[in-house]
Amino acid sequence: MEKKMRVIVAGGGTAGWTTAHCLAKRLSNMLEIILVESDQIGTVGVGEATIPTMRRFHQFFGIDEREFMRETQATFKLGIDFVNWSKPGESYIHSFGDIGESTWLAGFHQYWMEAKANGFGGSLEDYCLELKAAQEDKFATKVGDKSLAYAFHMNATAYAKWLRKKSELLGVQRVEGKINEINVDPVTGNITSLELEHDRQVAGDFFIDCSGWRGLLLGDALDVEFEDWSHWIASDRAWAVQTKKTGPPVPYTSAIAHPIGWQWHIPLQTRTGNGLVFSSKFCSEDDALKTLLGNITGETTTEPRLLKFKTGRRINPWHKNCVAIGLSSGFIEPLESTSIHLINTSLVRLMNLFPFSGEMESSTERFNRETRLEWEAVRDFIILHYKQTQRDDSEFWNYYRTMDIPDSLAHRLEIFKENGYVWEDEVNLFRTHSWVQVMLGQGLIPKNRHGAGRMLPPKELKRQLDGMITSVDQDLAKLPSHSDFIKQYCPAVGLSDN
Ligand SMILES: Cc1cc2nc3c(=O)[nH]c(=O)nc-3n(C[C@H](O)[C@H](O)[C@H](O)COP(=O)(O)OP(=O)(O)OC[C@H]3O[C@@H](n4cnc5c(N)ncnc54)[C@H](O)[C@@H]3O)c2cc1C
Repeated sequence: MEKKMRVIVAGGGTAGWTTAHCLAKRLSNMLEIILVESDQIGTVGVGEATIPTMRRFHQFFGIDEREFMRETQATFKLGIDFVNWSKPGESYIHSFGDIGESTWLAGFHQYWMEAKANGFGGSLEDYCLELKAAQEDKFATKVGDKSLAYAFHMNATAYAKWLRKKSELLGVQRVEGKINEINVDPVTGNITSLELEHDRQVAGDFFIDCSGWRGLLLGDALDVEFEDWSHWIASDRAWAVQTKKTGPPVPYTSAIAHPIGWQWHIPLQTRTGNGLVFSSKFCSEDDALKTLLGNITGETTTEPRLLKFKTGRRINPWHKNCVAIGLSSGFIEPLESTSIHLINTSLVRLMNLFPFSGEMESSTERFNRETRLEWEAVRDFIILHYKQTQRDDSEFWNYYRTMDIPDSLAHRLEIFKENGYVWEDEVNLFRTHSWVQVMLGQGLIPKNRHGAGRMLPPKELKRQLDGMITSVDQDLAKLPSHSDFIKQYCPAVGLSDN
Protein backbone atom coordinates (compact mmCIF):
# COMPACT_ATOMS: atom_id res chain seq x y z
CA MET A 1 0.00 0.00 0.00
CA GLU A 2 1.21 3.51 -0.85
CA LYS A 3 2.59 5.36 2.17
CA LYS A 4 0.22 8.06 3.38
CA MET A 5 1.44 11.65 3.37
CA ARG A 6 1.80 12.88 6.95
CA VAL A 7 0.04 16.21 7.55
CA ILE A 8 0.66 18.10 10.78
CA VAL A 9 -1.93 20.65 11.89
CA ALA A 10 -0.35 23.01 14.42
CA GLY A 11 -3.09 24.47 16.61
CA GLY A 12 -6.57 23.40 17.63
CA GLY A 13 -8.89 26.40 17.59
CA THR A 14 -11.71 26.77 15.09
CA ALA A 15 -9.14 26.79 12.27
CA GLY A 16 -7.23 23.71 13.47
CA TRP A 17 -10.18 21.47 14.17
CA THR A 18 -12.08 22.54 11.05
CA THR A 19 -8.97 21.72 9.01
CA ALA A 20 -8.34 18.37 10.71
CA HIS A 21 -11.98 17.32 10.43
CA CYS A 22 -12.38 18.22 6.78
CA LEU A 23 -9.11 16.62 5.68
CA ALA A 24 -10.01 13.46 7.59
CA LYS A 25 -13.54 13.39 6.26
CA ARG A 26 -12.56 13.60 2.59
CA LEU A 27 -8.89 12.55 2.27
CA SER A 28 -8.21 10.12 5.11
CA ASN A 29 -7.28 7.33 2.65
CA MET A 30 -4.40 9.44 1.42
CA LEU A 31 -3.35 11.36 4.51
CA GLU A 32 -2.26 10.64 8.06
CA ILE A 33 -3.40 13.64 10.11
CA ILE A 34 -1.88 14.73 13.42
CA LEU A 35 -3.04 17.83 15.32
CA VAL A 36 -0.83 19.42 17.98
CA GLU A 37 -2.35 21.85 20.46
CA SER A 38 -1.70 23.18 23.89
CA ASP A 39 -4.34 23.46 26.61
CA GLN A 40 -1.98 25.88 28.41
CA ILE A 41 -2.30 28.38 25.57
CA GLY A 42 -5.97 27.99 24.74
CA THR A 43 -7.91 29.49 21.83
CA VAL A 44 -9.41 32.85 20.88
CA GLY A 45 -12.88 31.31 21.04
CA VAL A 46 -14.92 34.41 20.17
CA GLY A 47 -15.86 33.76 16.53
CA GLU A 48 -19.58 33.37 17.02
CA ALA A 49 -21.29 34.94 14.00
CA THR A 50 -21.12 33.39 10.54
CA ILE A 51 -22.28 34.09 6.99
CA PRO A 52 -24.39 31.91 4.66
CA THR A 53 -21.41 30.26 2.93
CA MET A 54 -21.03 28.20 6.13
CA ARG A 55 -24.06 26.16 5.07
CA ARG A 56 -22.54 25.06 1.76
CA PHE A 57 -19.27 24.33 3.52
CA HIS A 58 -21.08 22.09 5.99
CA GLN A 59 -22.86 20.36 3.12
CA PHE A 60 -19.52 19.62 1.37
CA PHE A 61 -18.30 17.87 4.50
CA GLY A 62 -21.51 16.08 5.43
CA ILE A 63 -22.07 18.12 8.59
CA ASP A 64 -25.70 17.82 9.67
CA GLU A 65 -27.19 21.28 10.26
CA ARG A 66 -29.53 20.32 13.06
CA GLU A 67 -26.89 18.36 14.96
CA PHE A 68 -24.44 21.27 14.55
CA MET A 69 -27.02 23.74 15.87
CA ARG A 70 -27.98 21.62 18.86
CA GLU A 71 -24.34 21.02 19.80
CA THR A 72 -23.35 24.69 19.55
CA GLN A 73 -26.54 26.26 21.00
CA ALA A 74 -26.87 28.03 17.67
CA THR A 75 -29.49 30.46 16.44
CA PHE A 76 -30.23 31.64 12.92
CA LYS A 77 -28.83 34.82 11.43
CA LEU A 78 -30.50 36.67 8.55
CA GLY A 79 -28.15 39.65 8.48
CA ILE A 80 -26.60 42.43 10.53
CA ASP A 81 -28.38 45.44 11.98
CA PHE A 82 -26.06 48.45 11.65
CA VAL A 83 -27.10 51.03 14.22
CA ASN A 84 -25.68 54.59 14.24
CA TRP A 85 -23.19 53.91 11.45
CA SER A 86 -24.10 56.54 8.86
CA LYS A 87 -25.04 58.96 11.66
CA PRO A 88 -26.33 58.64 15.23
CA GLY A 89 -30.01 57.67 15.30
CA GLU A 90 -30.01 55.98 11.86
CA SER A 91 -29.86 52.27 11.15
CA TYR A 92 -30.12 49.77 8.34
CA ILE A 93 -29.97 45.99 8.01
CA HIS A 94 -27.48 44.31 5.70
CA SER A 95 -29.46 41.17 5.03
CA PHE A 96 -28.30 38.01 3.31
CA GLY A 97 -31.30 37.96 0.98
CA ASP A 98 -31.87 39.33 -2.50
CA ILE A 99 -33.40 42.77 -2.70
CA GLY A 100 -36.11 42.71 -5.38
CA GLU A 101 -35.58 41.25 -8.84
CA SER A 102 -32.73 42.51 -11.01
CA THR A 103 -32.47 42.16 -14.80
CA TRP A 104 -29.34 41.51 -16.86
CA LEU A 105 -29.38 45.19 -17.77
CA ALA A 106 -29.52 46.75 -14.33
CA GLY A 107 -29.65 45.94 -10.63
CA PHE A 108 -33.01 46.14 -8.86
CA HIS A 109 -31.96 49.28 -7.01
CA GLN A 110 -31.88 51.16 -10.33
CA TYR A 111 -35.59 50.42 -10.89
CA TRP A 112 -36.38 51.28 -7.30
CA MET A 113 -34.50 54.60 -7.51
CA GLU A 114 -36.50 55.46 -10.65
CA ALA A 115 -39.70 54.66 -8.77
CA LYS A 116 -38.65 56.87 -5.84
CA ALA A 117 -37.95 59.73 -8.26
CA ASN A 118 -41.54 59.30 -9.46
CA GLY A 119 -42.96 59.34 -5.93
CA PHE A 120 -43.66 55.64 -5.35
CA GLY A 121 -41.72 52.43 -4.58
CA GLY A 122 -41.81 52.31 -0.74
CA SER A 123 -38.64 51.44 1.11
CA LEU A 124 -35.86 49.22 -0.23
CA GLU A 125 -36.43 46.95 2.79
CA ASP A 126 -39.92 46.06 1.53
CA TYR A 127 -38.38 43.97 -1.26
CA CYS A 128 -36.40 41.49 0.81
CA LEU A 129 -37.99 38.60 2.70
CA GLU A 130 -34.93 37.96 4.88
CA LEU A 131 -34.74 41.59 5.89
CA LYS A 132 -38.42 41.84 6.78
CA ALA A 133 -38.22 38.53 8.66
CA ALA A 134 -35.27 39.86 10.69
CA GLN A 135 -37.23 43.00 11.57
CA GLU A 136 -40.22 40.94 12.68
CA ASP A 137 -38.25 38.22 14.48
CA LYS A 138 -39.47 35.48 12.18
CA PHE A 139 -37.67 32.55 10.65
CA ALA A 140 -37.91 29.25 8.77
CA THR A 141 -35.29 27.59 6.61
CA LYS A 142 -37.79 27.54 3.73
CA VAL A 143 -41.05 29.07 2.67
CA GLY A 144 -42.77 26.88 0.07
CA ASP A 145 -39.98 25.78 -2.28
CA LYS A 146 -37.85 28.82 -1.61
CA SER A 147 -34.89 28.52 0.77
CA LEU A 148 -34.09 31.55 2.86
CA ALA A 149 -30.53 32.93 2.80
CA TYR A 150 -29.29 32.44 6.35
CA ALA A 151 -26.29 31.78 8.54
CA PHE A 152 -25.76 31.05 12.25
CA HIS A 153 -24.71 32.43 15.60
CA MET A 154 -22.91 29.68 17.51
CA ASN A 155 -20.80 28.92 20.54
CA ALA A 156 -17.30 28.82 19.01
CA THR A 157 -15.71 26.85 21.84
CA ALA A 158 -18.42 24.19 21.61
CA TYR A 159 -17.94 24.10 17.82
CA ALA A 160 -14.19 23.36 18.10
CA LYS A 161 -14.85 20.68 20.77
CA TRP A 162 -17.53 19.04 18.66
CA LEU A 163 -15.27 19.03 15.59
CA ARG A 164 -12.50 17.55 17.72
CA LYS A 165 -14.76 14.67 18.76
CA LYS A 166 -15.76 14.02 15.16
CA SER A 167 -12.16 14.30 13.92
CA GLU A 168 -10.85 11.81 16.47
CA LEU A 169 -13.54 9.34 15.42
CA LEU A 170 -12.26 9.73 11.86
CA GLY A 171 -8.73 8.83 12.95
CA VAL A 172 -7.09 12.23 13.57
CA GLN A 173 -4.41 11.88 16.26
CA ARG A 174 -4.30 14.71 18.80
CA VAL A 175 -0.99 15.49 20.50
CA GLU A 176 -1.16 17.68 23.60
CA GLY A 177 1.88 19.88 24.09
CA LYS A 178 3.47 23.25 23.65
CA ILE A 179 5.44 23.74 20.44
CA ASN A 180 8.79 25.24 21.42
CA GLU A 181 10.64 25.15 18.14
CA ILE A 182 10.19 24.44 14.47
CA ASN A 183 12.89 22.60 12.53
CA VAL A 184 13.53 23.77 8.97
CA ASP A 185 15.71 21.96 6.42
CA PRO A 186 18.51 24.42 5.58
CA VAL A 187 18.76 23.19 2.00
CA THR A 188 15.11 22.99 0.90
CA GLY A 189 13.70 25.56 3.31
CA ASN A 190 10.86 23.12 4.14
CA ILE A 191 9.65 22.45 7.68
CA THR A 192 10.67 18.99 8.83
CA SER A 193 9.31 18.73 12.39
CA LEU A 194 7.92 20.48 15.47
CA GLU A 195 9.80 20.30 18.77
CA LEU A 196 7.46 20.02 21.74
CA GLU A 197 8.18 20.45 25.43
CA HIS A 198 9.64 17.38 27.21
CA ASP A 199 11.87 16.63 24.20
CA ARG A 200 9.15 15.30 21.96
CA GLN A 201 9.27 15.72 18.21
CA VAL A 202 6.47 15.56 15.63
CA ALA A 203 7.76 15.11 12.08
CA GLY A 204 5.68 15.51 8.92
CA ASP A 205 5.60 16.01 5.15
CA PHE A 206 3.20 18.94 5.04
CA PHE A 207 2.34 21.45 7.78
CA ILE A 208 -0.76 23.55 8.33
CA ASP A 209 -0.22 26.52 10.60
CA CYS A 210 -3.37 27.04 12.69
CA SER A 211 -1.47 28.48 15.65
CA GLY A 212 -3.41 31.75 15.81
CA TRP A 213 -2.03 35.29 15.68
CA ARG A 214 1.56 34.27 16.47
CA GLY A 215 1.80 32.33 13.24
CA LEU A 216 4.44 30.03 14.72
CA LEU A 217 5.23 28.20 11.51
CA LEU A 218 4.63 30.61 8.65
CA GLY A 219 5.59 33.76 10.54
CA ASP A 220 8.20 32.80 13.15
CA ALA A 221 9.88 29.86 11.39
CA LEU A 222 9.50 30.69 7.68
CA ASP A 223 9.56 34.45 8.15
CA VAL A 224 6.75 35.23 5.70
CA GLU A 225 6.08 38.95 5.73
CA PHE A 226 2.95 40.43 7.33
CA GLU A 227 1.22 43.15 5.30
CA ASP A 228 -0.10 45.72 7.74
CA TRP A 229 -3.53 47.21 6.93
CA SER A 230 -4.02 49.05 10.22
CA HIS A 231 -3.88 52.46 8.52
CA TRP A 232 -7.19 51.50 6.84
CA ILE A 233 -8.72 49.50 9.68
CA ALA A 234 -7.44 51.09 12.86
CA SER A 235 -9.31 48.84 15.31
CA ASP A 236 -6.77 46.82 17.30
CA ARG A 237 -8.57 45.82 20.50
CA ALA A 238 -11.82 44.20 21.56
CA TRP A 239 -13.46 43.54 24.90
CA ALA A 240 -15.69 40.47 24.97
CA VAL A 241 -18.15 39.42 27.66
CA GLN A 242 -21.09 37.06 27.86
CA THR A 243 -24.44 37.83 29.44
CA LYS A 244 -27.56 35.92 30.42
CA LYS A 245 -30.40 35.94 27.93
CA THR A 246 -32.97 38.66 28.50
CA GLY A 247 -35.53 37.48 25.95
CA PRO A 248 -35.98 35.32 22.88
CA PRO A 249 -32.96 35.45 20.52
CA VAL A 250 -33.33 37.70 17.49
CA PRO A 251 -32.34 36.30 14.06
CA TYR A 252 -29.64 38.88 13.36
CA THR A 253 -26.38 40.26 14.73
CA SER A 254 -26.36 43.84 15.98
CA ALA A 255 -23.40 46.13 15.27
CA ILE A 256 -23.95 49.33 17.22
CA ALA A 257 -21.62 52.25 16.55
CA HIS A 258 -20.44 54.40 19.48
CA PRO A 259 -18.15 57.44 19.38
CA ILE A 260 -15.17 55.19 20.25
CA GLY A 261 -15.88 52.03 18.26
CA TRP A 262 -18.66 49.53 17.72
CA GLN A 263 -20.42 46.98 19.88
CA TRP A 264 -21.60 43.52 18.87
CA HIS A 265 -24.58 41.64 20.22
CA ILE A 266 -24.83 37.97 19.25
CA PRO A 267 -27.76 35.98 20.62
CA LEU A 268 -27.38 32.24 21.21
CA GLN A 269 -30.06 29.88 22.52
CA THR A 270 -28.49 29.87 25.96
CA ARG A 271 -26.75 33.23 26.35
CA THR A 272 -25.68 36.41 24.55
CA GLY A 273 -22.21 37.28 23.28
CA ASN A 274 -21.25 40.94 23.59
CA GLY A 275 -18.16 42.87 22.72
CA LEU A 276 -16.72 46.20 21.76
CA VAL A 277 -14.18 46.73 19.00
CA PHE A 278 -12.09 49.89 19.30
CA SER A 279 -8.73 51.44 18.49
CA SER A 280 -6.09 52.04 21.16
CA LYS A 281 -5.09 55.12 19.13
CA PHE A 282 -8.33 56.85 20.11
CA CYS A 283 -9.51 55.30 23.35
CA SER A 284 -8.05 53.72 26.49
CA GLU A 285 -8.84 50.11 27.37
CA ASP A 286 -10.60 51.26 30.57
CA ASP A 287 -12.88 53.69 28.77
CA ALA A 288 -13.75 51.10 26.18
CA LEU A 289 -14.69 48.62 28.90
CA LYS A 290 -16.89 51.21 30.58
CA THR A 291 -18.65 51.87 27.28
CA LEU A 292 -19.28 48.18 26.75
CA LEU A 293 -20.52 47.48 30.28
CA GLY A 294 -22.70 50.59 30.17
CA ASN A 295 -24.44 49.42 27.01
CA ILE A 296 -25.26 45.77 27.60
CA THR A 297 -28.44 44.30 28.99
CA GLY A 298 -28.49 41.14 31.07
CA GLU A 299 -26.27 39.98 33.91
CA THR A 300 -22.68 39.22 32.89
CA THR A 301 -21.68 35.57 33.24
CA THR A 302 -17.97 35.83 32.37
CA GLU A 303 -15.14 38.19 33.22
CA PRO A 304 -14.59 40.71 30.39
CA ARG A 305 -11.73 39.56 28.17
CA LEU A 306 -9.41 41.87 26.26
CA LEU A 307 -8.21 40.75 22.83
CA LYS A 308 -5.40 42.57 21.02
CA PHE A 309 -4.89 42.28 17.29
CA LYS A 310 -3.53 43.90 14.18
CA THR A 311 -5.29 44.06 10.83
CA GLY A 312 -3.45 42.64 7.88
CA ARG A 313 -2.36 39.42 6.26
CA ARG A 314 0.65 37.26 5.51
CA ILE A 315 1.54 38.08 1.93
CA ASN A 316 2.08 34.42 1.04
CA PRO A 317 -0.14 32.19 3.18
CA TRP A 318 1.31 29.15 1.39
CA HIS A 319 5.12 29.03 1.50
CA LYS A 320 7.27 25.93 0.98
CA ASN A 321 5.49 22.95 2.63
CA CYS A 322 3.38 25.09 4.95
CA VAL A 323 -0.03 26.76 4.61
CA ALA A 324 -1.46 29.14 7.20
CA ILE A 325 -5.18 28.88 7.87
CA GLY A 326 -7.07 31.05 10.36
CA LEU A 327 -5.58 33.86 12.42
CA SER A 328 -2.04 32.73 11.55
CA SER A 329 -2.73 33.94 8.00
CA GLY A 330 -4.02 37.35 9.12
CA PHE A 331 -7.02 39.10 10.57
CA ILE A 332 -9.71 41.52 9.49
CA GLU A 333 -11.93 42.67 12.33
CA PRO A 334 -15.26 40.89 12.82
CA LEU A 335 -17.68 43.55 11.52
CA GLU A 336 -19.05 41.32 8.75
CA SER A 337 -18.24 37.98 10.45
CA THR A 338 -15.82 36.91 7.72
CA SER A 339 -12.99 35.09 9.56
CA ILE A 340 -14.54 31.63 9.70
CA HIS A 341 -15.55 32.00 6.09
CA LEU A 342 -11.92 32.76 5.20
CA ILE A 343 -10.83 29.65 7.12
CA ASN A 344 -13.30 27.58 5.15
CA THR A 345 -12.42 28.94 1.72
CA SER A 346 -8.67 28.59 2.38
CA LEU A 347 -9.22 25.00 3.35
CA VAL A 348 -11.30 24.16 0.28
CA ARG A 349 -8.75 25.96 -1.90
CA LEU A 350 -5.95 23.93 -0.31
CA MET A 351 -7.87 20.69 -0.81
CA ASN A 352 -8.48 21.57 -4.47
CA LEU A 353 -4.76 22.23 -5.00
CA PHE A 354 -3.43 19.64 -2.53
CA PRO A 355 0.19 18.62 -3.35
CA PHE A 356 -0.26 14.83 -3.23
CA SER A 357 2.80 14.32 -5.45
CA GLY A 358 5.00 16.67 -3.45
CA GLU A 359 5.18 19.13 -6.38
CA MET A 360 3.65 22.43 -5.38
CA GLU A 361 5.22 25.48 -7.00
CA SER A 362 2.36 26.45 -9.35
CA SER A 363 -0.32 25.44 -6.86
CA THR A 364 1.30 27.66 -4.26
CA GLU A 365 1.19 30.60 -6.62
CA ARG A 366 -2.46 30.04 -7.49
CA PHE A 367 -3.43 29.61 -3.84
CA ASN A 368 -1.67 32.82 -2.84
CA ARG A 369 -3.18 34.83 -5.68
CA GLU A 370 -6.78 33.71 -5.01
CA THR A 371 -6.35 34.24 -1.29
CA ARG A 372 -5.00 37.76 -1.81
CA LEU A 373 -7.92 38.73 -4.05
CA GLU A 374 -10.40 37.32 -1.57
CA TRP A 375 -8.88 39.13 1.42
CA GLU A 376 -8.64 42.42 -0.43
CA ALA A 377 -12.32 42.22 -1.35
CA VAL A 378 -13.25 41.61 2.30
CA ARG A 379 -10.95 44.44 3.43
CA ASP A 380 -12.59 46.89 1.01
CA PHE A 381 -16.07 45.92 2.12
CA ILE A 382 -15.19 46.49 5.78
CA ILE A 383 -13.54 49.85 5.06
CA LEU A 384 -16.69 50.96 3.22
CA HIS A 385 -18.66 50.91 6.52
CA TYR A 386 -16.16 53.21 8.22
CA LYS A 387 -15.26 55.54 5.38
CA GLN A 388 -18.78 56.18 4.20
CA THR A 389 -20.04 57.81 7.38
CA GLN A 390 -21.31 61.26 8.16
CA ARG A 391 -20.29 60.97 11.81
CA ASP A 392 -18.04 63.75 13.08
CA ASP A 393 -18.58 63.31 16.82
CA SER A 394 -15.18 61.83 17.75
CA GLU A 395 -11.55 61.47 16.72
CA PHE A 396 -12.30 57.86 15.82
CA TRP A 397 -14.94 58.73 13.20
CA ASN A 398 -13.08 61.81 11.97
CA TYR A 399 -10.08 59.61 11.25
CA TYR A 400 -12.11 57.11 9.27
CA ARG A 401 -14.23 59.68 7.41
CA THR A 402 -11.20 61.56 6.15
CA MET A 403 -8.63 58.80 5.59
CA ASP A 404 -7.34 57.63 2.20
CA ILE A 405 -8.76 54.33 1.03
CA PRO A 406 -7.43 51.61 -1.29
CA ASP A 407 -7.72 52.48 -5.01
CA SER A 408 -9.91 49.43 -5.58
CA LEU A 409 -12.53 50.75 -3.16
CA ALA A 410 -12.22 54.36 -4.29
CA HIS A 411 -12.94 53.20 -7.86
CA ARG A 412 -16.00 51.26 -6.71
CA LEU A 413 -17.41 54.20 -4.76
CA GLU A 414 -16.81 56.64 -7.63
CA ILE A 415 -18.70 54.46 -10.09
CA PHE A 416 -21.59 53.94 -7.69
CA LYS A 417 -21.79 57.70 -7.11
CA GLU A 418 -21.69 58.37 -10.82
CA ASN A 419 -24.38 55.94 -11.99
CA GLY A 420 -25.24 53.35 -9.31
CA TYR A 421 -23.34 50.49 -10.97
CA VAL A 422 -22.23 47.60 -8.76
CA TRP A 423 -20.29 44.46 -9.67
CA GLU A 424 -18.86 41.28 -8.18
CA ASP A 425 -15.11 40.68 -8.11
CA GLU A 426 -13.18 37.78 -9.65
CA VAL A 427 -12.81 35.96 -6.32
CA ASN A 428 -15.93 37.14 -4.81
CA LEU A 429 -17.53 36.97 -1.39
CA PHE A 430 -19.93 39.89 -1.25
CA ARG A 431 -22.66 39.91 -3.83
CA THR A 432 -24.03 43.01 -5.50
CA HIS A 433 -27.01 42.86 -3.10
CA SER A 434 -24.59 43.29 -0.19
CA TRP A 435 -22.71 46.21 -1.73
CA VAL A 436 -25.97 47.98 -2.58
CA GLN A 437 -27.46 47.54 0.89
CA VAL A 438 -24.36 48.83 2.64
CA MET A 439 -23.63 51.71 0.24
CA LEU A 440 -27.22 52.99 0.37
CA GLY A 441 -27.46 52.21 4.09
CA GLN A 442 -24.36 54.29 4.75
CA GLY A 443 -25.94 57.18 2.86
CA LEU A 444 -24.08 56.94 -0.45
CA ILE A 445 -26.71 57.92 -3.01
CA PRO A 446 -25.90 57.79 -6.75
CA LYS A 447 -26.15 61.12 -8.60
CA ASN A 448 -27.55 59.49 -11.73
CA ARG A 449 -29.65 56.44 -12.50
CA HIS A 450 -29.43 53.85 -15.24
CA GLY A 451 -32.03 54.37 -17.99
CA ALA A 452 -33.45 50.85 -17.56
CA GLY A 453 -36.10 52.07 -15.12
CA ARG A 454 -37.29 54.63 -17.68
CA MET A 455 -37.86 51.98 -20.35
CA LEU A 456 -41.12 51.09 -18.61
CA PRO A 457 -44.02 53.52 -18.25
CA PRO A 458 -44.21 54.53 -14.52
CA LYS A 459 -47.57 52.76 -14.17
CA GLU A 460 -46.05 49.48 -15.34
CA LEU A 461 -42.99 49.95 -13.12
CA LYS A 462 -45.30 50.51 -10.16
CA ARG A 463 -47.34 47.42 -10.98
CA GLN A 464 -44.20 45.26 -11.07
CA LEU A 465 -42.74 46.68 -7.85
CA ASP A 466 -46.08 46.34 -6.03
CA GLY A 467 -46.16 42.69 -7.12
CA MET A 468 -42.73 42.09 -5.54
CA ILE A 469 -43.79 43.70 -2.26
CA THR A 470 -46.95 41.58 -2.16
CA SER A 471 -44.96 38.42 -2.73
CA VAL A 472 -42.59 39.29 0.16
CA ASP A 473 -45.55 40.06 2.44
CA GLN A 474 -47.29 36.80 1.57
CA ASP A 475 -44.16 34.77 2.33
CA LEU A 476 -43.54 36.71 5.52
CA ALA A 477 -47.03 35.89 6.79
CA LYS A 478 -46.20 32.16 6.52
CA LEU A 479 -43.10 32.31 8.75
CA PRO A 480 -43.20 31.28 12.44
CA SER A 481 -41.32 33.20 15.11
CA HIS A 482 -37.59 32.57 15.25
CA SER A 483 -37.74 30.99 18.71
CA ASP A 484 -40.69 28.73 17.82
CA PHE A 485 -38.77 27.50 14.79
CA ILE A 486 -35.64 26.79 16.85
CA LYS A 487 -37.67 24.90 19.47
CA GLN A 488 -38.91 22.39 16.92
CA TYR A 489 -35.84 22.30 14.63
CA CYS A 490 -32.72 22.35 16.78
CA PRO A 491 -33.12 22.93 20.53
CA ALA A 492 -29.69 23.10 22.20
CA VAL A 493 -28.46 19.87 23.81
CA GLY A 494 -29.54 19.85 27.46
CA LEU A 495 -31.55 23.06 27.15
CA SER A 496 -34.61 23.24 29.30
CA ASP A 497 -36.98 25.87 28.03
CA ASN A 498 -35.24 29.00 29.34
C1 LIG B 1 -12.96 40.12 18.95
C2 LIG B 1 -13.10 39.05 17.91
C3 LIG B 1 -14.35 38.69 17.44
C4 LIG B 1 -14.47 37.73 16.44
N1 LIG B 1 -15.71 37.43 15.95
C5 LIG B 1 -15.82 36.62 14.89
C6 LIG B 1 -17.08 36.33 14.32
O1 LIG B 1 -18.12 36.79 14.79
N2 LIG B 1 -17.12 35.53 13.24
C7 LIG B 1 -15.99 34.98 12.69
O2 LIG B 1 -16.08 34.29 11.67
N3 LIG B 1 -14.79 35.17 13.27
C8 LIG B 1 -14.67 35.98 14.32
N4 LIG B 1 -13.45 36.19 14.88
C9 LIG B 1 -12.28 35.43 14.39
C10 LIG B 1 -12.29 34.04 14.97
O3 LIG B 1 -12.29 34.11 16.37
C11 LIG B 1 -11.09 33.25 14.48
O4 LIG B 1 -11.01 33.32 13.09
C12 LIG B 1 -11.24 31.80 14.85
O5 LIG B 1 -11.46 31.64 16.21
C13 LIG B 1 -10.02 31.00 14.44
O6 LIG B 1 -8.97 31.17 15.30
P1 LIG B 1 -7.71 30.22 15.12
O7 LIG B 1 -8.15 28.82 15.24
O8 LIG B 1 -6.98 30.63 13.90
O9 LIG B 1 -6.78 30.65 16.33
P2 LIG B 1 -6.88 30.31 17.91
O10 LIG B 1 -8.28 30.19 18.36
O11 LIG B 1 -6.01 31.32 18.57
O12 LIG B 1 -6.22 28.90 18.04
C14 LIG B 1 -4.81 28.74 18.03
C15 LIG B 1 -4.44 27.34 18.46
O13 LIG B 1 -3.04 27.21 18.39
C16 LIG B 1 -2.57 26.63 19.60
N5 LIG B 1 -1.22 27.11 19.86
C17 LIG B 1 -0.73 28.37 19.79
N6 LIG B 1 0.57 28.40 20.13
C18 LIG B 1 0.91 27.13 20.41
C19 LIG B 1 2.11 26.50 20.84
N7 LIG B 1 3.24 27.17 21.07
N8 LIG B 1 2.09 25.17 21.03
C20 LIG B 1 0.96 24.44 20.83
N9 LIG B 1 -0.18 24.98 20.42
C21 LIG B 1 -0.23 26.31 20.23
C22 LIG B 1 -3.57 27.09 20.65
O14 LIG B 1 -3.54 26.26 21.77
C23 LIG B 1 -4.87 26.98 19.88
O15 LIG B 1 -5.32 25.66 19.91
C24 LIG B 1 -13.31 37.11 15.93
C25 LIG B 1 -12.06 37.43 16.43
C26 LIG B 1 -11.94 38.39 17.41
C27 LIG B 1 -10.60 38.74 17.94
